[in-house]
Amino acid sequence: MNKTIFDVFIIGGGIAGLTAAQYAARSELKTILIEGSAPGGQTLNISHLENYPGLYPAKAGYEFIDDAKKQAQDFGANCIAGEVHSFTKTNEFFSIKTDKEVYTTKTIILATGCNPRTINIAGEKEFSHKGVSYCATCDGPFFRGKHIAVIGGGDSACDEATFLSNIASKITMIHRRDEFRAQAAVAKRVVENSKIDIKFSTIPLAIKGEKTVNAVQVKDIKTNEEYEISVDGVFVFVGMIAQTNLVETLKKDENGFIITDENMQTSVEGIFCAGDVRSKSFRQIVTAASDGAIAAHSAAHFIQNM
Ligand code: NAP
Repeated sequence: MNKTIFDVFIIGGGIAGLTAAQYAARSELKTILIEGSAPGGQTLNISHLENYPGLYPAKAGYEFIDDAKKQAQDFGANCIAGEVHSFTKTNEFFSIKTDKEVYTTKTIILATGCNPRTINIAGEKEFSHKGVSYCATCDGPFFRGKHIAVIGGGDSACDEATFLSNIASKITMIHRRDEFRAQAAVAKRVVENSKIDIKFSTIPLAIKGEKTVNAVQVKDIKTNEEYEISVDGVFVFVGMIAQTNLVETLKKDENGFIITDENMQTSVEGIFCAGDVRSKSFRQIVTAASDGAIAAHSAAHFIQNM
């Protein structure tokens, strides 16, 4: 049992959690952040972070996270590796059980982010890590000079297809609608990239191969034509699932994201929430950072009134 009574216990070491840690520590709150096996979350997958205001020229996501962590620590935040197993509220404090110790805290900021959604088609599980991937930065280099299929039409799919086009010989993008969901600037880069072939109104039916992937079977939903595309890898970017298994009792929206008010207050007093795990319409690094700052500010206000 750790004897310190923390003011703020932050769960998650992505940019929302790191920003909350920086703001809380800078306000002289006793702050601890648990970051899982490594800090960074989805930002680590960004090869070229070009739309964070003031971060110019662009940086790699991991460099940005490294700086954000150092900044939080320099202001006095305690960042630890580990995993939260459960927490309970006793009187006015929360007791948090991790894989290593039990901590006591006045408030919690949940910043647990999201995991990639799967498409649940034949071959997806079978060829996971054998040609099916959810992370271009991690697995892209294994496909140098090869043909890759990218599934999805949002910001992630378009960003990652652009990144992968620098490594692969060819990218075929498979998207179920006839227009991208991605922001116009991100989509334009894909449309203008001569190495990317786009199959709109097309759904993936199965991923095929022997030891590793060698094809994806698709269907054109306008013509009902089914056909195979020979590829060496399939990268799936079809959205995210909120990581909320720790907090089953908090109010969530119909997609499983945690509902907060504009102060990041959840349905339970003393628990705040920030970043992609929160119910909102625009998930960006800049909005995650903003959530983190507001959550820390609200936690400070809550503690003052305790
Ligand atoms: P997203 O915006 O939810 O897009 C998911 C895409 O996958 C959509 O095009 C969707 O098609 C498609 N899809 C969903 N389920 C599918 C299925 N079963 N089969 C085939 N296609 C399917 O998710 P995201 O791209 O991962 O982005 C998540 C959030 O992070 C977004 O808010 C995004 O703006 C943000 N983000 C921002 C940046 C950036 O600013 N550079 C980079 C990455 C992510 P439909 O369009 O038909 O629904």
